[in-house]
Amino acid sequence: MASQFGAFTASELYCPKCARAQRVRERLLLILPDGELHEYLCSGCGNSLGQRKTARPGSAFSIPPRPPPRRPAAGPAPSGPLPRRPRGLLS
Ligand SMILES: [Zn+2]
Repeated sequence: MASQFGAFTASELYCPKCARAQRVRERLLLILPDGELHEYLCSGCGNSLGQRKTARPGSAFSIPPRPPPRRPAAGPAPSGPLPRRPRGLLS
C-alpha cells in the first residue's frame, strides 16, 4: 500500500522500537478547552509516536473571528463639523 499524502493525517510514523515506519492508531489523549489532544500509537508495539492537537469542532476556536467593523479609512470627511483654522494667523 503506497503512502498517501492527500490529507495530512499521519497514518504511518517511524517507530524507533520497531525500527521501521508503522501504521499508527489515533487515540484521544486529552480534551482541552479549545481542542483535543490526540496521541499516535504504534500499531505494532503500542509505543507513543507523537501527538496532535485538533480544534474541537463547533468550538469558538474553529469559527473565524468576526471581521472588525469597518472604519472610514483615512477619509477626508470627518464625522462632525470641524472649526476651520483661520489661515494666515500665526499663533
Ligand atoms: Zn512500534
